[in-house]
Amino acid sequence: MTDTFEKNQRMRLDDLLHRFQQTARQEPYAYEWTHHTDGGRHPTHVVFGCMVHGNEVGSLPAVVRLVQALNEGQVRFGGKVTLFIGNPEAARENRRYLEADLNRVFLDTGKSRHEDQRAQQIMPILNDADVFIDFHQTILGTAQPFYIFPWQRLGWQWARAVQSTKVWVTRDPKITFSSGSKCTDEYVADRGRPGITVELSQKGFTDQAEQICWNTMINALKQADAEASGTDISELAIQQPELSFYQTTYSEPFSNPEMTLRPGLLNFQSVQEGEQLSASDTPKITVPTPGAILFPKYPERENGLAIDPRPNEIYRLVTPMDEHPMKLWDTD
Ligand SMILES: [Zn+2]
Repeated sequence: MTDTFEKNQRMRLDDLLHRFQQTARQEPYAYEWTHHTDGGRHPTHVVFGCMVHGNEVGSLPAVVRLVQALNEGQVRFGGKVTLFIGNPEAARENRRYLEADLNRVFLDTGKSRHEDQRAQQIMPILNDADVFIDFHQTILGTAQPFYIFPWQRLGWQWARAVQSTKVWVTRDPKITFSSGSKCTDEYVADRGRPGITVELSQKGFTDQAEQICWNTMINALKQADAEASGTDISELAIQQPELSFYQTTYSEPFSNPEMTLRPGLLNFQSVQEGEQLSASDTPKITVPTPGAILFPKYPERENGLAIDPRPNEIYRLVTPMDEHPMKLWDTD
């Protein structure tokens, strides 16, 4: 079963990558896994990122479809649009990355690993972006799609206008979790432009991922056209329903390789204070406050011990925010 599934998934991946190469026009960019078109009516440049994590392939069908639809005139956009595929080499090995997490190295690392070099190739595209949306997928299942990126007023307005989902896991942009690392969305936000990350579904080709990705791209192009013809993004945003905001309120350190989550935990699964998340006969992992689980980790194990390098956290807890993040974190 699994072999057949993997074989089918692999064939679909190869077919889609081949179709992208056949139809994409990369100029003026040097990076080969790029498609760029210019509608010639206004200068707004919308950029979409796909598979920055290799095995998060779910956005690829919609991306290939959009390249074709733009080429054939079924989708018209007055500005410039660029789509890029971040890490097809890792995707072909069904891995998140080959040597380093690409979504951490959008800065000068001084290293020459595959992903450091790749970030350097993608940065010129991000440098030109007026709006950037990066499509990701979660490792395990998720109860709902969600935006996840630091608070940014422009990012909020675009995310609300585009309505990929109604849920946003956000944080204070002044707090950097890891110095010496930078994601695509942070890189674009540093330039004062909206940098948005969406988690579409559990990783893999799913109808849900394709549909949300397609709707997001079409909505983003529509809103960019509307903005270019004179309606400010703040006005376009308030015509759409407000998002619900979540923030991380607890992160459980993966302090001991014996720590093991009980099987079957999913993203956005509700948990209660005092609930045990540990598997039987493993160190206790007790939920400190009510909330929802995010990014539960089930690393590979040997004799019950998580193999190094193990993740820094074994799960995190998110809770709905009582106050609008604009009130808490806006610096303007
Ligand atoms: Zn990802």
